[in-house]
Amino acid sequence: MPRQGSLLDHDRETRAALWRRVAELLEAHLARQSDDPEAAIAPASSSEAIAASLDALFGGAPRAPGEALDEVARALEHGIVHPDHPRYFGLFNPAPAALAVVADALASGFNPQLATRGHAPWPVAAEERLLAAFGERFGWAPDATRGAFCSGGGEANMTALACALVAAFPELGERGVRSLAGDPRLYVSAEGHATVARAARLAGLGAGAVRTIAADARQRMKPAALREAIARDRAEGALPFLVVATAGTTSSGAIDPIAELASVAERERCWLHVDAAWGGLAALVPELRGALDGVARADSITFDAHKVLSAPMGTGTFLTRREGILERVFADRTGYMPRDGASDPYSRSMQWSRRFLGLRVLLPLLAVGWEGYAESLRRQVALADRLRARLRERGWVVVNDTPLPIVCFVDAAHADGRFLDAVARATLASAGGWLSVPRFANGTRALRACVNNHRSEAQDVERLVEALDAARANALGGAA
Ligand SMILES: *Cc1c(COP(=O)(O)O)cnc(C)c1O
Repeated sequence: MPRQGSLLDHDRETRAALWRRVAELLEAHLARQSDDPEAAIAPASSSEAIAASLDALFGGAPRAPGEALDEVARALEHGIVHPDHPRYFGLFNPAPAALAVVADALASGFNPQLATRGHAPWPVAAEERLLAAFGERFGWAPDATRGAFCSGGGEANMTALACALVAAFPELGERGVRSLAGDPRLYVSAEGHATVARAARLAGLGAGAVRTIAADARQRMKPAALREAIARDRAEGALPFLVVATAGTTSSGAIDPIAELASVAERERCWLHVDAAWGGLAALVPELRGALDGVARADSITFDAHKVLSAPMGTGTFLTRREGILERVFADRTGYMPRDGASDPYSRSMQWSRRFLGLRVLLPLLAVGWEGYAESLRRQVALADRLRARLRERGWVVVNDTPLPIVCFVDAAHADGRFLDAVARATLASAGGWLSVPRFANGTRALRACVNNHRSEAQDVERLVEALDAARANALGGAA
């Protein structure tokens, strides 16, 4: 009997036109950003225009599917910062690889449910291979890695905290934090990521459980200060259980001395988590691997494919070499899931229903290989080196020290926040590039340019430097 078809599927011709149209829109977007020197990096729409556009969309009658698609694509073009613009030198938000976008469409279309192996045996096994490959790049044995794809570094750091807690306090899963003989304490650098403290709050430990350890002049955690903090806490009867090392701080790309921190963690019987959400890129580029010395000693690692591997937003991973810990944290028994669910992904992570996130890495990998990813990252490192050199030539002072492609700088004579903000604003206004102006834990600020986009090229760096010089002249002229 012929099928009736579904309202939500439209008819065959309409669908064919929609698939074609979305491809045209994506290609036009990419081409505009590559070829139009004035293509907007930041939202062109005012908040009034955005409200008006949404009023029209929500208030209007149902429209033809193609019209709806065009309207939404237009709204996106004008209503967002474009992290895929070749002169977006912003936070860790790369342009997605073309095949990663295709992967997302494929995953949506087939819509595998990765909660259980039974529902998605091939995707679950494929993700396990990818996680193992990541673990190997961090120096773990080929069969040592356990873990999960997840929404991002925030979730991965929360998972690390949960694992460290249960590893240190096995009774906790049943009896909760109140059963502990003292206050649990964890340690992270002053330049570490805010999601670590968030995880402590969510776990019911409170932000007070987080000891913020001073960073040195290169913004790396001081191992001596860590040792002292742990000794102080022990003397007070508190229970140190977790050290979080940051490999690639968000503000300046600093890499904590992981090997030294690993020795402290081992001596103190603390879990060592390495937050390598972005800095983990060094593990993929052989000549940078030395910068992560000691990372193989980590109990767990945060590694974000949506920062390092040009995957679309929402592609993080949590990796651990502690077999069985994830199941101890997450496994549940319920009548509506397989009886022996221990090897199912829902027993190993925060998410229950799960998208095939790994395909966003797997599909590009099949085409370009690990060497392709390494080459793309190498180019970003080389562009940052070029930027450092150009900035120094022109009297800017680079204030961070990292092998990673992130450059923090100030003017030799002017480093106050208002000046830096004005320079960043003017640089963006002239389409020279999008920069951030972070505040470091020591209170100082700097302009920050991160090369995190596989589409950025030398001409983009040159244009950024020209725009910065013009913006500086303008800001100083205005001040005089
Ligand atoms: C980005 C980042 C996070 C948070 O990761 P999300 O993927 O944004 O959730 C955590 N730690 C570090 C070091 C980061 O750079």
